[in-house]
Amino acid sequence: MIDLHTHSTCSDGSDPPERIPELAAAAGCSAVALTDHDTLACIGRARVRASELGIELVAGCEVSCRYRGTSAHVLVYFVEDGEGPLQEELARLREDRVARNRRLAERLAALDVPISYEDIVQEAGAEESAGRPHVAALLVRRGLAESIPDAFDRWLAEDRPAYVPKARVTPAEIAAAARASGGVAVLAHPFSLGLDAGALDEVAAELQAAGFAGMEAYYGAYRPEQRSQLVGVARRHGLVPTGGSDYHGTSKPGLRVCTGQGDLSVPDRVLPELRERRTAAG
Ligand code: AMP
Ligand code: ZN
Ligand code: FE
Ligand code: FE
Repeated sequence: MIDLHTHSTCSDGSDPPERIPELAAAAGCSAVALTDHDTLACIGRARVRASELGIELVAGCEVSCRYRGTSAHVLVYFVEDGEGPLQEELARLREDRVARNRRLAERLAALDVPISYEDIVQEAGAEESAGRPHVAALLVRRGLAESIPDAFDRWLAEDRPAYVPKARVTPAEIAAAARASGGVAVLAHPFSLGLDAGALDEVAAELQAAGFAGMEAYYGAYRPEQRSQLVGVARRHGLVPTGGSDYHGTSKPGLRVCTGQGDLSVPDRVLPELRERRTAAG
């Protein structure tokens, strides 16, 4: 069993990066990827702990991309923190994130919501790691939402009053940068695109042509029949069906590392299969 999708305090998860391999090892996983939003900065810390525990830590990150009028999340694997085309793009995306969060704070002020940019940064611990879940936590604490999902429904989700779009890059651009840095790109939680499995066939064909290596199919929050549908879509288009919990700790309650809601089990063979898709570059 493996888990190729987790978040730590380096983005919007609530657990420090060292805790992710600890939870993975305790759940019986042989490998875990840390996939924080827009950053590889905590891969090293997580890997040190993973090697002490005798499990593999796969370098990863998650990027929000502009796609078909909405936002598509792309996971990148096997790119290490350091220099390179993907790493440069991630640095630009972290700058975009800061600018977006400033606009989000202005939007909240215009809506008479008493949450400042400084509050958001303090909640996140660092300017570059702040995201909407941190704002959601503040909204709950100020009594303006009942829960984090409710805060998204009322304020933060696409088309809600405090939403500020952020995605600038396309999936094809991220796939190209990932490949140039020796990594691979995978479409995360495909049903977030709001399409049925039929339309996702078209998406899979398009992304495969754009250099994608995989598509998430074994996803923590999906039902078993949804996972099988996505395995089918991926396989029909030569994409590796990958998977993970999307663990965020308390920012996304009900999900555990490796086991998701209790019924997740991503097969070990996914990892070597994905690794084979790396090109010679990097
Ligand atoms: P950001 O990086 O600021 O765009 O925030 C993305 C994070 O918000 C991801 O971790 C998502 O899981 C979370 N998120 C997005 N939409 C929702 C929603 N409707 N309910 C709860 N969490 C959400
Ligand atoms: Zn997140
Ligand atoms: Fe995501
Ligand atoms: Fe995620």
